[in-house]
Amino acid sequence: MTNSSNPAVSLVVPLYNEQESIGPLFTALTDILDKRQQSWELLLVNDGSSDNSAAIIDALSDDNTHVHAIHFSRNFGKEAALDAGLANAHGDCIIFIDADLQHPPKCIEQMLDKWQQGFDVVNAVKKQRGDESVYHRWLAFIFNRIMSGATGEDFQGASDFKLIDRNVAEALMQCPERTRFFRGLVAWVGFKTTSVEFDVAERSAGDTKWSRWQLIKYSLTNIVSFSSFPLVLVTWIGAITVLLGAVLGVQTLFNYLSGNAISGFTTVIMLLIFLCGIILLSLGTISLYIAKIYDEQKARPLYIIASSSRGKRKPNSEPAD
Ligand code: UDP
Ligand code: MG
Repeated sequence: MTNSSNPAVSLVVPLYNEQESIGPLFTALTDILDKRQQSWELLLVNDGSSDNSAAIIDALSDDNTHVHAIHFSRNFGKEAALDAGLANAHGDCIIFIDADLQHPPKCIEQMLDKWQQGFDVVNAVKKQRGDESVYHRWLAFIFNRIMSGATGEDFQGASDFKLIDRNVAEALMQCPERTRFFRGLVAWVGFKTTSVEFDVAERSAGDTKWSRWQLIKYSLTNIVSFSSFPLVLVTWIGAITVLLGAVLGVQTLFNYLSGNAISGFTTVIMLLIFLCGIILLSLGTISLYIAKIYDEQKARPLYIIASSSRGKRKPNSEPAD
């Protein structure tokens, strides 16, 4: 396969306000891919950036046959941007990589080698997590443990930096859910999987787009969409509370009958607070699932593409279609 309308390798880059990183990323990617025999395309998915990213990627697509710029109508989030890349990529394999150079482009060579050895999924796994706060590390640890339980895959060190074969891409596109957790879905669809390790680099420019609150929300959404464990937990907590209640009931009755009943409201108030807490927490957990069902049944599109432009052809290059 040699022409860029049907490339061997598609690269998908989700980007939101990455004006400083796009240039260096593009240079790093072209350096690597031009050396290899495979033809390639680069899908730059602008997730509603408010900086100069849109103009920069349009200019790149004007100048390069390889580049496909996709612009969302607003910010829909990274998962939506990854999904748009997946749906629009034509490659025999697709590589997903962040725009901020935290995913080292040089790993792509190793990933492509593994793909050519016959692997369908090549996960780039974080050797060390880069410069993150203790809070961020702990949140990631707990989240990854729950997700590992839900999908049966090891999520510690997992990232969205991945290569997937066309077969895997087709399987992912068959998953209809609106709440996309790319890492989880790739693990869930299976296929012959391997990994390569990488050190998380510092961000090349700008700041992470995730606030603490967004990270907590993201983790909760993905746990709810992938695991019914919290619902099972509610049932268990309910069962344990009933058991404790029965024991306490018998003891209270015994004390009453033997004339040793505890006087005052302290015990009653404590019990009330404890039980109300459990009931509200359980209701909240169930509500999260109901909210997810509500969102899913609306079945709105994951993102809206406002405009897109395929790389313009250089005067002497071969026809695309
Ligand atoms: N990103 C995106 N939409 C968003 C937030 C982030 O497309 O709403 C992109 C961002 O431009 C980058 C990648 O997703 O290419 C990872 O984002 P970030 O570096 O902020 O996340 P972190 O590395 O801190 O997990
Ligand atoms: Mg980053």
